[in-house]
Amino acid sequence: MGRLSGLVGRAGADTDRWRDRLWWIFALVGVVATGLYVAGVGVLIDFALIGAGAIAACFASPSMHDIRPARAWHTLGVAGAFMLTGAILRPLVVTPHGTALPAEAFTVPGYVLMIAALADFAYGRRAIDRHSVIDGLIVCVGATTAFSLLFAVPAMSIPGRPPIVSVLAALYPTFDAILVLLVVMLAFSTAARQPAFRLLLGMMVLIFIGDLAYAVIGNQGAFYKSPLLDIPFLLAFTVGGASALHPTARELVRAVPLPVQPWSLARLAVIIPAVAAPFALLLTVVETPVERFVVGLGGAVVVLLLILRAVSAVQANAEAQARFEYQATHDELTGLPNRRRITQILTGMLADPAGRDQVWVFYLDLDGFKFVNDSWGHPAGDDLIREIGQRLRGILPPEATIARIGGDEFVVVRRGTEAQALEQAQQIVDCVEPPTRIGTAEVVITGSMGIVPATREDAGQPEVTADSLLRDADTAMYRTKADGRGTWTVFDASMRQAVQERLEIEGALRAALTGDEFHVLYQPIVDLESGLPHGAEALIRWEHPEKGVIGPNVFIPVAEESRLITGIGEFVLRAAVRQLAGWREDGTVTDDFWMSINVSPRQLTEPGFTAMVGGALRAHGVPARCVALEITESVMVEGGDISEGALRDLRALGVSISVDDFGTGFSSLGYLRRHPVTSVKIDRSFVSGLGASASDEEIVRAVVAMSTALGLTVVAEGVETTEQRDVLGRLGVRLCQGWLWGRAVEARAFADKWGSHTDKRGSREQAAV
Ligand code: C2E
Ligand code: MG
Ligand code: MG
Repeated sequence: MGRLSGLVGRAGADTDRWRDRLWWIFALVGVVATGLYVAGVGVLIDFALIGAGAIAACFASPSMHDIRPARAWHTLGVAGAFMLTGAILRPLVVTPHGTALPAEAFTVPGYVLMIAALADFAYGRRAIDRHSVIDGLIVCVGATTAFSLLFAVPAMSIPGRPPIVSVLAALYPTFDAILVLLVVMLAFSTAARQPAFRLLLGMMVLIFIGDLAYAVIGNQGAFYKSPLLDIPFLLAFTVGGASALHPTARELVRAVPLPVQPWSLARLAVIIPAVAAPFALLLTVVETPVERFVVGLGGAVVVLLLILRAVSAVQANAEAQARFEYQATHDELTGLPNRRRITQILTGMLADPAGRDQVWVFYLDLDGFKFVNDSWGHPAGDDLIREIGQRLRGILPPEATIARIGGDEFVVVRRGTEAQALEQAQQIVDCVEPPTRIGTAEVVITGSMGIVPATREDAGQPEVTADSLLRDADTAMYRTKADGRGTWTVFDASMRQAVQERLEIEGALRAALTGDEFHVLYQPIVDLESGLPHGAEALIRWEHPEKGVIGPNVFIPVAEESRLITGIGEFVLRAAVRQLAGWREDGTVTDDFWMSINVSPRQLTEPGFTAMVGGALRAHGVPARCVALEITESVMVEGGDISEGALRDLRALGVSISVDDFGTGFSSLGYLRRHPVTSVKIDRSFVSGLGASASDEEIVRAVVAMSTALGLTVVAEGVETTEQRDVLGRLGVRLCQGWLWGRAVEARAFADKWGSHTDKRGSREQAAV
C-alpha cells in the first residue's frame, strides 16, 4: 500500500514537473518551426502546427492550471482559430488586386475576438479603471492618427483599388490601435507582471509589428507576400501559446490592482509620444486637406482626453477627500456621526440664532455593555451597538442627530421645548430595554442617560460650548448610574462640584496605595449563643494626609470605576489573610475562626484573581475554609460568565462566598441556587427596623427560611440594639455583626478585646467563639 501510494506520489510529481516545463518546450518548438518556415521547409505545415498548438494551449490551459474563469483563454483560443484559418486561406484566395475576401472573413472576426479576450483579461485584473482607460485612449488616438496618416490615407488614395480593400487597409490599423489601448491599460493598472502576463503582452506587440509591416507594403501599393512577413505572426502564436501554458497563466485573470494611480515615468514615456504624434505629423507628413483634417481631428481628441484626464484626476482627488472626511467624522460600526462630527453639529446649532427652541443634548450610556462583550464576545457587542443605533434612528425625529461617541455611548442632539425633550428622554431610555437576540441568547440591558439643555441665552455665552454641553450631559449620565441606572437625569450645576470631587478622589487614590494611606480594621461577627466572635469582617479605611479619614462608601465606587480597585482589593485581601495568620499563630483566635473580606464585582473579572487569593492563602498558611469573600448581589445578576467562572474556581479552592447587603437588590432565590454561595448577609436596612417594623421582621423570617432550605448560613449586619439582637435570635439568626458588639477597630484593639477572653477564661476554644 505504502509502495503504491509512493509510486502514485512520484507519478504526480512527475506530471507536475512536465506541466511546468511545457511552456518553454512549446516556445522552443515554435521558434524551430518558425526557422523552418523561413527556410521554406514545410511552410504550410509549420504555420498550421504552431497555430494549432497555440489554440490547443489556450483551451488546455484553464483545466491544466485550474484557471477560473476560463472564458478569456477560451475566447483567445477561438480568436486564434479564426486568425489561423485566415492566414492559411490568404495565399490560396488572394486576387491579383491583392484582395483576399474569404481570408478577411476570418481574420476580421479573429481580431474582434482577440480584442474581446484581452478586454476580458483587463476586466478580470480590475485593470479597467478610469485613469487607465483614458491613458490607453490617449495612446490609442495618437497611434490611430499616425496610422491613418501613414498608412490608411495613402492606401485609400491608391487608384484602381476596390473600396473594400481601402476599408480593410484602414480597419487593421484601428484594430492595432485598440490593441495598444488594451496593452497600455493592462500594463499600467497592475503591479504584478508575471511571466505569462509579459508573454501575452509580447504576443500583442508581435501582432502589432506584423500588421505594421503589412501596412507599409500595402501603403506602397504592393501586395508582395514574402514568408518573412509572417514571422511576427508565427512568433505571436508561439509566444501566445507559451503564455497560456506558463504556470503563472493562473494569475492572469486575478485582480492585482495598484494601490494608487500615480503618474509614473513609464506612463509618461508612453503617453508623451502619443500626445506629440499629431504635432510631429503636422510638421513632417501633412500636405493634403484630408491629411490636415485627420491630424486636426486626432490632435483635438488627444487634447480633449488630456482635459478629461485632468478633470478625472481632480475628481478622484475630491472623492478621496470626501471619503477621508466621511471616515474622520463617522463611526465605522454604525455609520453614525462620531464625536468630532457631533461637536461640529452642536457648535453650529449653538451659533445659529434662528433656532427659537432650546438645544438639548442627550448622553446615553448602556449599562452592563462590558458584560455583554466579556460574556458573548466582541462581535456580539458590535451587533448590540448596531441594533441600538438602529432603534434610536427609528424613534427619533428626522431633525435629531444621533452620534456614537464611544464604545457604548450615544449622543442625541435636537431642538425642542422642555416637555418635548423630557418625553424624548423617556423614549430613548425605553428603546434600549426590549431584549436583543445575540446568537441563541436574549440579552436585556438598560441605558443610563444624562440630559442638558442650552437655552438661547446660554448659546451666546463663551463658556457654553459643544464640549461643555457634552461634558455636563456626561456628568448627569454618571449621576443616573450612581442613582440606579436605566433612567435619565437632567444636569444641574451642583453635579459639577460632585464630579470635581470625584476627580480629586481618583487622583488622591492613585497616590494612596504607594503612600501607605490605607489600613484595615476588623469588626467581629458574633455567635449569639456565646456572645463571642466567630469571625471578623475586614473593612478598609483611608487616611488622607489632608482630608482625614475618607469612608469606603465614598472612595470604593471611584476606585471601581477607575480600576484602581484591583490594587486596593489585593492590598486588603493580603493584609486580612496575613492578620488572620498572625492571630491563628499567637492564639488570639481558634482554628475555625474566619475572616470575611469584601470583593468588588470588578475584581472577579480580573483574570488572575483566584490565583492571587490562592497564593495569599498559601503564603500565610491559612486554610481556605477560614476565608469568606463577600460579593454583592449584582455579581450574580449581571456578572456574566467570567464572574460566574471565578466564583466556581474560588469555591473549588475552598473559600466561602457570602452575599453582602442581601435584600437590597434582586434577592432572587433562583440566583442563590444557581451560584455557588455559602451564606447571605441580611442588609442592615432590614435589621434597623426590627422591633418596630413588622414587615422587616417578615422579610428576615423569609430570608432565614429560604437560606435554611438552601443550606446557607445567615449573618445579620448592622445590629445596634439588644432588641434587634433578641428579635434576630427569635427568628433563628445565629450570627450577627454590629455596633452592639463593637465597631471596626485596629487589629491590636481587636485582639486586646476579644483575645483577652482566651486568657481570662483559660479556654481558647470558648474565647474565640
Ligand atoms: P459592608 O460590606 O456592608 O460593610 C458593613 C458596613 O457597615 C461597614 O461600613 C461597617 O462599618 C458598617 N457597620 C457595621 N456595623 C454597623 C452598625 O451597627 N450600624 C451601622 N450603621 N453601620 C454598621 P464601612 O466600613 O463604612 O464600609 C462600607 C462599605 O464599603 C462596606 O459595606 C463594603 O461594601 C465597602 N467596603 C469596605 N471595605 C471594603 C474593601 O476592602 N473592599 C471592598 N470592595 N469594599 C469594601
Ligand atoms: Mg461586607
Ligand atoms: Mg453589608
